Amino acid sequence: MLAADFLHLEESIAIVNKYADVFHLDIMDGVLVPNISYGFPVVEAISTKAKKMLDAHLMIVHPERYIERFSKVGVKMLSVHYEAVRDPEPILGLIKSFGMKAGLAFNPDVPVEKILPYLYACDYVLVMSVYAGFGGQKFIEDTYERISQIKAAIDEQKLRCRIEVDGGVSPANASKLIECGADILVAGSAVFKAENPSEVIAAMRK
Ligand code: ZN
Repeated sequence: MLAADFLHLEESIAIVNKYADVFHLDIMDGVLVPNISYGFPVVEAISTKAKKMLDAHLMIVHPERYIERFSKVGVKMLSVHYEAVRDPEPILGLIKSFGMKAGLAFNPDVPVEKILPYLYACDYVLVMSVYAGFGGQKFIEDTYERISQIKAAIDEQKLRCRIEVDGGVSPANASKLIECGADILVAGSAVFKAENPSEVIAAMRK
């Protein structure tokens, strides 16, 4: 929703309701990442119109302070950044304790090896394919290899952790991402800046 039309938010919400599977909400605090996005008033407004699941991606420091509040506004998938938490396990447990799916997100410069020990505690990992903080960035090609490594570890340990990819995702890279093991593709600009968003979503589904 970062790439949505904020002057006509209801139209952007309608596109997601009709054609997509999940509302992905990028929450930035200007501290963990060098940008500020939107907060609870906007998430709450979206939640009143959303017919699909709300997935909040917290790019903020001290995410533990806001877990309960996100669950109260109807968020069902909640990810926190590895870079923002000293020990991911307790906070992933806290997210689950509110009945939400718990995700661990990480930037392209975090070695995959740092994330592998926590896969067992995650319902999903959020692999950033651009640096967190801004929409509209170019997809980083390394991402394919990073996803393959994570997918291999998930399969080897017979875990149920899913893989979400976020940043520069479009019909041009969607099929290769899925082949590498991605389960959830987050697309912002590719959809909302397009002439025909539904065609872009259909192309990615194909
Ligand atoms: Zn995101």
